Amino acid sequence: MAVLDSKSPKGPIANRWTKHKNDINVVNPANKRLIDVIVVGTGLAGGAASASLAEMGYNVKAFCYQDSPRRAHSIAAQGGINAAKNYQNDGDSTYRLFYDTVKGGDYRARESNVYRLAEVSTNIIDQCVAQGVPFARDYGGLLDNRSFGGVLVSRTFYAKGQTGQQLLLGAYSAMNRQINKGKIQMFNRHEMMDLVKVDGKARGIITRNLHTGEISRHSAHAVVIATGGYGNVYFLSTNAMGSNVTAAWKIHKKGAFFANPCYTQIHPTCIPRSGDHQSKLTLMSESLRNDGRIWVPGRKDHVEAIRSGKMKPVEIPEEDRDYYLERRYPAFGNLVPRDVASRAAKERCDAGYGVNSTGEAVYLDYSSAIERYGKTEANINGLDSSDTELVTKLGKKVIEAKYGNLFQMYEKITDENPYETPMMIYPAVHYTMGGIWVDYNLMTTIEGCYAAGEANFSDHGANRLGASALMQGLADGYFVLPYTIGDFLAAEIRTGEIPNDTPEFLEAENDVRKQIDFFVNNKGTKSVDHFHKRLGKVMWDKVGMSRNITGLEEAIREIKEIREEFWREVKVPGDADGLNPELEKAGRVADFLELGELFAKDALHRNESCGGHFREESVEVGGPQDGEALREDVNFRYVAAWEYKGEPSDAVLHKEPLEFNDIELKQRSYK
Ligand SMILES: Cc1cc2nc3c(=O)[nH]c(=O)nc-3n(C[C@H](O)[C@H](O)[C@H](O)COP(=O)(O)OP(=O)(O)OC[C@H]3O[C@@H](n4cnc5c(N)ncnc54)[C@H](O)[C@@H]3O)c2cc1C
Repeated sequence: MAVLDSKSPKGPIANRWTKHKNDINVVNPANKRLIDVIVVGTGLAGGAASASLAEMGYNVKAFCYQDSPRRAHSIAAQGGINAAKNYQNDGDSTYRLFYDTVKGGDYRARESNVYRLAEVSTNIIDQCVAQGVPFARDYGGLLDNRSFGGVLVSRTFYAKGQTGQQLLLGAYSAMNRQINKGKIQMFNRHEMMDLVKVDGKARGIITRNLHTGEISRHSAHAVVIATGGYGNVYFLSTNAMGSNVTAAWKIHKKGAFFANPCYTQIHPTCIPRSGDHQSKLTLMSESLRNDGRIWVPGRKDHVEAIRSGKMKPVEIPEEDRDYYLERRYPAFGNLVPRDVASRAAKERCDAGYGVNSTGEAVYLDYSSAIERYGKTEANINGLDSSDTELVTKLGKKVIEAKYGNLFQMYEKITDENPYETPMMIYPAVHYTMGGIWVDYNLMTTIEGCYAAGEANFSDHGANRLGASALMQGLADGYFVLPYTIGDFLAAEIRTGEIPNDTPEFLEAENDVRKQIDFFVNNKGTKSVDHFHKRLGKVMWDKVGMSRNITGLEEAIREIKEIREEFWREVKVPGDADGLNPELEKAGRVADFLELGELFAKDALHRNESCGGHFREESVEVGGPQDGEALREDVNFRYVAAWEYKGEPSDAVLHKEPLEFNDIELKQRSYK
């Protein structure tokens, strides 16, 4: 195959997906019974893919490391899922969702894929409603929507603050139907340790049973990787503790190109770090920015008074508050995209206006919303809207109905009541737009190996809009992969069962055993977490929200040093033949230590600011956009896909040029 053939269909963009489906090969229903597909990961992307492929007749072997698909990281998604249904009659359309996604991603995504995503978004909602997903409804009983950052319409479907959980229960019930029928063989608590290739094609995986330590070989005609994102390379993130890059990294080492590793999303509304001994960060859903106003004190003496406990935020007069997003971005205000909101918070905190003891926190304030909603409620019920106490009480009830579980979560973690005092928030690592490079069929550069959901480099370019990850994962799993995989599998109907005792399988198994033996026998002096934390600190300080050439070069050097020390000094207690969480972590951190270097290398080569990737050397000077990120379309309008060549430093860059025929390339302005 030509290197990086995206297989994007030609012709009018609105017809491409339909035309493509008409043109590609399909497998007839009787022949699907002859074909096995491995799906690694049963979050929203993998769960949807497993259920759909089995429903179509393929034999699916599904793997996850949790004790049930219900516990995938997808369960954490709070805010919602986008779809261009235009239920609010506010002018939404497939084109507008496509446009917002390409613009939001700072023109670094593939047009054909994004259009398809917008097109199938509406089917996702119908599918999930049919499964019984309890989306929020408005007073008339119709599905409700809210707005999310970076767009001017309300298109986000939600189930209180538990959208991911409800969607996952839907996908899981669809899977369960097939598990029951024997069409899905479910391997819970199995971690994929390596990919097996036979004659250049992905033909199986090696797994470790996390309870017994048993290593086993599994074969299939195709392998789908739906193992989520790699935000935990930063150690601290909002991702689930187990989220990792291992499956994606193993296929990278076997020939799958890794695209745009430096595109990371730092989410603006997370609970700030409280100190050095934390292992997890908590997201406060972006939906909170719909009604909350973000500010810091405008005066340094007020900042000092707050930090020393002499003043409370509610005592700061209105005229001394700096609602910096509303000030800098009047058109979008608090609803600017995540990358813009995160950098603006950092800018204020770096300037000395952070409101907690670490200096890394800003306020998210509900008092205006409480008053606004309270007055409306009073008017609706014919009550006195000038009665402040009554209005506040009514307003709090509305806020509780909309965000109650999020407020409760905040209070449990911080011991502060957000109905009475503004929340404190700060940006944290949340999502990775980079990932395994895939073509229009979601096939990686390894034949027969596919990637779906957050694991692929996805449709979000350099920055993902809120509520679009669930949309993409479910689009991939329910509506894209089940069609496109047939194009490859149509040629496999006569292949027969793939044996799992061939030299390729035995060699891969042997390599896995060797690594495990090494870890349990190394008897070093430092824990796995010791290395992971050091890696995370380098990543956050030098490859975080803001990046520059000096920091990136240092990061590359330092990560390499940490990696070398890891292989000398890592200590993994316990043994290999049973439950051993330290052993699990060791394998994952080993992969993060390689990915981290490639990540920094990618960030170094991309000497432009785009989306979540902010290079200090590339900013607008003068004019209305002064100080904002400066994208460099002439030199960097491409997907950077890295080929593994041994060490991360030897990785070879391949470029997939990005063409924009249906959207005009513009400076992304939210002012
Ligand atoms: C706190 C939080 C809130 C969010 N809120 C929203 C939101 O409101 N809207 C939105 O659109 N997006 C949201 N996101 C993003 C979204 O939740 C994720 O991008 C999405 O759920 C990822 O789904 P996935 O199926 O690709 O991967 P995951 O849900 O991460 O699933 C990964 C699967 O892979 C398995 N796995 C991983 N490695 C291995 C291995 N080596 N072997 C075997 N199995 C493996 C896991 O067991 C799991 O089953 C949020 C993210 C976070 C962190």
